Amino acid sequence: MRFAADRMLGKLAKWLRILGYDTLYSRTLSNDRFLALADEGRILLSRNTQLVGKVAPDGLILVEANDPKRQLQDLVHLLGLKPDPDKFFSRCTICNQLLEPVEPGDVVGKVPDHIWTGHYRFSECKTCGRIYWPGSHLAKSREEIKRLLGV
Ligand SMILES: [Zn+2]
Repeated sequence: MRFAADRMLGKLAKWLRILGYDTLYSRTLSNDRFLALADEGRILLSRNTQLVGKVAPDGLILVEANDPKRQLQDLVHLLGLKPDPDKFFSRCTICNQLLEPVEPGDVVGKVPDHIWTGHYRFSECKTCGRIYWPGSHLAKSREEIKRLLGV
């Protein structure tokens, strides 16, 4: 399942990417271009009630909760999503690109020294160049997912 999130839903988009869902998000997308993403098979996530009726009913989900974590819970329940732990943290949270594993030798100088010496597994976003590693923030997100979604 693929998504597109409107400009009000940046944090929800980030959570969906953390779970591994392909989620387009741009703060500069016009309404027309946003709506056109439904034609690409993406489910539109929006807080804008004026968009209702402009795409097929199952192509748009109106997000009602204010809290991004609540939004995520609502969406998972509504769509009956079954997030797959094998896909968690597989996507760049900044630009939605799938991450690729890279050798520690390839990230010398690209991550702080204390990180490089303490970790063996790295992955890279080939779009923005950001390097990811299983750090403490990942453990925190993983716990949060368990608390919110029970997976
Ligand atoms: Zn990226």
